[in-house]
Amino acid sequence: MTSTWVEPSNTATALLLLGRGTDPASEAGVDCPGDLPSPSDPDLVARAMAAKLALGDRVFVLGHHYQRDEVIQFADVTGDSFKLAREAAARPDAEFIVFCGVHFMAESADILTTADQKVILPDLAAGCSMADMAVLSQVETAWDLFEDLGIAGDVVPVTYMNSSADIKGFVGRNKGVVCTSSNAKRALDWAFEQGSKVFFLPDQHLGRNTAVLEMGLTLDDCVLYDPHKPHGGLTPEQLRDAKMILWRGHCSVHGRFTLSCVEEVRERIPGVNVLVHPECRHEVVTAADYVGSTEYIIKTVEAAPAGSAWAIGTELNLVRRLADAHPDKQITFLERTVCYCSTMNRIDLPHLVWALEELVAGRTPNQITVDPDTSAFARSALDQMLALP
Ligand code: SF4
Repeated sequence: MTSTWVEPSNTATALLLLGRGTDPASEAGVDCPGDLPSPSDPDLVARAMAAKLALGDRVFVLGHHYQRDEVIQFADVTGDSFKLAREAAARPDAEFIVFCGVHFMAESADILTTADQKVILPDLAAGCSMADMAVLSQVETAWDLFEDLGIAGDVVPVTYMNSSADIKGFVGRNKGVVCTSSNAKRALDWAFEQGSKVFFLPDQHLGRNTAVLEMGLTLDDCVLYDPHKPHGGLTPEQLRDAKMILWRGHCSVHGRFTLSCVEEVRERIPGVNVLVHPECRHEVVTAADYVGSTEYIIKTVEAAPAGSAWAIGTELNLVRRLADAHPDKQITFLERTVCYCSTMNRIDLPHLVWALEELVAGRTPNQITVDPDTSAFARSALDQMLALP
């Protein structure tokens, strides 16, 4: 059987225009100051190659799996956010780390690299809508409530890697841990050894899916804290009884997959294997055959027998690359309409060329820095993750 990849249809809102405006409420919230080359410049690829060559070992380019092909071709290493942070930390000799991903990833790289290294995000408007859903002041308000109710001492904060440095710093200050979609169960096991409740930030779906499907908790053990409602929309009894206090945040990309997508693809492709990311809604994950992180999804497809059929629920750039790399398997996208991560897509070839050429010219564009205090606490939450058994 050969690949029958069908390009999903576009939607009006799926791809945002390159961000050059200002959004003070966003995680990144700034415009991109550069004089960008034209996207139609036929020399963009040659310019990127020349700039990388000129910089040599001084630069190391990281590419997240969800990045565009035109960018990923210049990555020295590709991976998920955690793998890329570790790769950045493992390159102490590289003066510049150019992070083709989103803002929170570049922050984590800055936290894990040396003070002499500079982390560059080619477009400062490449934020993450999920990370934006948990703002430090909101999280501190929730914690104050837990203290007023006398439960803060029982609560261990756990934040997903996909959160701002501020939130990781909060979690480190309160003796919690960072987790990824690969090690969320181990992080929760550890957290429940430290306290009787977990405050899970910012992705409600990863928290709920891990607690219910991997830890044996029930949906009734979980409550949803809504930062836009007084007391999170919860009663004191609900907060006292809960084992998992989930922050009301989600990924706008993975949140698009619905149960009807799963039902529709099973009808359309008999025998199809449904493989989804744990950032998907609980009913989608429950209906799927396989659930796992981006790295798990890649390995599962690589190990699948020729002729097998797969419907994959994660970001479209990655799914399309998997389809291209495995023409002997039938790989389809779980949603019928396009599902790029619009902020990931802000990093395009013009931004990458601009950033590299600025470095060649002796200027440091779009450097991401985390203040030392936040960095130290965030580092302790990241180190706690690295120390998980
Ligand atoms: S895919 Fe979702 S979690 Fe990842 S960067 Fe995009 S919005 Fe954020």
